[in-house]
Amino acid sequence: MVFLQTHAEIRAPKRTSKRTIESFIKKHYDFILEKLENLEFVERHYKTGEEFLIQGEKYTLNVSIAPVNDVIVDEGGINLYVQSDDYDLKKEVLEAYFKRIAQLDIKRLVLRWSKIMALFPSKVKLNRAEKRWGSCNYHTKTLNFTIRTAMLPDWVQEYIVIHELAHLLHPDHSKNFWNHVEQFMPDYKEAEKYIKTYSSLLSF
Ligand SMILES: [Zn+2]
Repeated sequence: MVFLQTHAEIRAPKRTSKRTIESFIKKHYDFILEKLENLEFVERHYKTGEEFLIQGEKYTLNVSIAPVNDVIVDEGGINLYVQSDDYDLKKEVLEAYFKRIAQLDIKRLVLRWSKIMALFPSKVKLNRAEKRWGSCNYHTKTLNFTIRTAMLPDWVQEYIVIHELAHLLHPDHSKNFWNHVEQFMPDYKEAEKYIKTYSSLLSF
């Protein structure tokens, strides 16, 4: 499942001819394309003040140097304690926290929706995929979910789980597949909309 939908708006004075605009786009095409692709991600530095979503709630990051690496989330935000102000270390400690949440959420949702949909995976795995939310191996009946699902509110996580479970029956994105998803989640398009709206925050 990949959600990539972007558009660009070119602003020009009213009198500008269509030809001028077209030649501008042609000349800067690579640059525009690059910008559009990067729109999906906010650049992370793991500095105090950066925003992250946890289960759909927005939190501000507070970084402190401490003897033990840890994450404590409270009303004040995400308190990230690290032994040194190192990019890789901060990313790793934060990702480990999201992984713990994702493990609980995904397990609970797969159990619930497997029963409802009568579709049972043989294995459920978590990964750190940066673009995909989930995937399904139709032959081994294995479902994979990214730990970034922990950033999403429950109802959007539910959609991702329903989507991947439905792939156990329909490996493609055929009409039958979408009908199956819709049967269990009539407003699934709202979940896709949520992901698009918050895409810039949904990354590490
Ligand atoms: Zn899919």
